[in-house]
Amino acid sequence: MRHDWCKVIYMRKRLRVYYVLCSILAISILASSILASAQKDSPLAIAHVTVIDCTGAAPQPNSTVLIAAGHITAIGPSDRVSIPAGARVVDGNGKFLIPGLWDMHGHLTDATEDAFPLLIMNGVTGVRDMGGDLAQIDRWRAEIESGTRVGPHIIRAGPFVDGPKEGVSNRLTVRTPEEARQAVHQLKAKGVDFIKIHNALPPEAFFALMDEARKEHIPVAVHLPRGVSSADASDAGVASLEHIETVNESALWRKGATAKTVEQAVDENLGPAGQQLFEHLAKNGTWYVPTLVAYERGFVLWSNDPEALAPRMEVQRKQIKLVAMMHKAGVPIMAGSDFSDWAMVPGVDLHNELALLVEAGFTPLEALQTATLNPAKFLGKTETYGTIQVGRAADLVLLDMNPLEDISHTRKINAVVLGGKFYPLASIRAQSLQDAAKR
Ligand SMILES: [Zn+2]
Repeated sequence: MRHDWCKVIYMRKRLRVYYVLCSILAISILASSILASAQKDSPLAIAHVTVIDCTGAAPQPNSTVLIAAGHITAIGPSDRVSIPAGARVVDGNGKFLIPGLWDMHGHLTDATEDAFPLLIMNGVTGVRDMGGDLAQIDRWRAEIESGTRVGPHIIRAGPFVDGPKEGVSNRLTVRTPEEARQAVHQLKAKGVDFIKIHNALPPEAFFALMDEARKEHIPVAVHLPRGVSSADASDAGVASLEHIETVNESALWRKGATAKTVEQAVDENLGPAGQQLFEHLAKNGTWYVPTLVAYERGFVLWSNDPEALAPRMEVQRKQIKLVAMMHKAGVPIMAGSDFSDWAMVPGVDLHNELALLVEAGFTPLEALQTATLNPAKFLGKTETYGTIQVGRAADLVLLDMNPLEDISHTRKINAVVLGGKFYPLASIRAQSLQDAAKR
């Protein structure tokens, strides 16, 4: 990935402003978390709310959701669910309840701990970390689990497995098939949840790694290595392919390729070659995380030069069509923002990704499912996450407006429930700005 470093620095400064604002809010969230933990054992009832459970069922108006010990214990029409004595009751009248969102492509180490309040304030209760400092992530994860830090559930890869690269950190550098097999055992011993491959891994090392990972039952997520096609990676058994632009790179280097430029590659993918590839991915059950927002921020809106901008905008417009084709072909898709330390804002950009998926023809419910039900399916955790059903973890987002009418309403967050704790974000935001003004 090429960067214009002046712009990177400028962008980082802008992100810093977000982060400073958020640190004020983070203190308030932590304070309210202490309050919340005092109430941890008393049940919570969200009454008279419209439940969008994300199973695919129709929205259920005037429902009551009961929560106790971090889990959903009852759901039903408000006139039939009896609220236990001593429960905290939240009036959900006119509001909408959706499951907590998962960002399935993020980098916590690069984003730093400043990302946690941003994620929670934006309703992101789960993150698949796609490469970072394993020890640090595990420290954060332990703090979140023990309740000393407010943050999302984390599924993590630990270090990237990559070929030789200069100036990058948190890499396990692999050059040969033997080293690739060793890397699988090394990472398995460290207890990673999955392996993340990056683009400089030599093809023969990639295929050896896939073979070893299959034997060791470790899922592999792939930023396509140079020289490996999307179809071959899918046949090798990858769990997920990352970034929409890699199907265009693949078209440049697959066997018998005729496309010479990204523009030609994207056009080729819009025709029968892409259709065939996407049907192949669907047949293999290979998941795709398009990270459209990252392409838009990272490659398209990077330049202020209109001449440079126009062709990239055109590629992005076509890439949105490619995601539409994938979706129609039955490729299972998940939402990811690729937040790290540059152009994307943790939490905020997951909502932008959902909007881009709606642009690609997803219904708002299907877009919501890419960040709820689908991640739970992918992780094999549908009994715990992804839907509003009895027995699931109480990770919920209370919205002021209906997201099925307009996906941008996922940003209208009134409150977040995280592991059964209630965070009234609308009032926390207002109050912390008042408090900051007094300082
Ligand atoms: Zn990434």
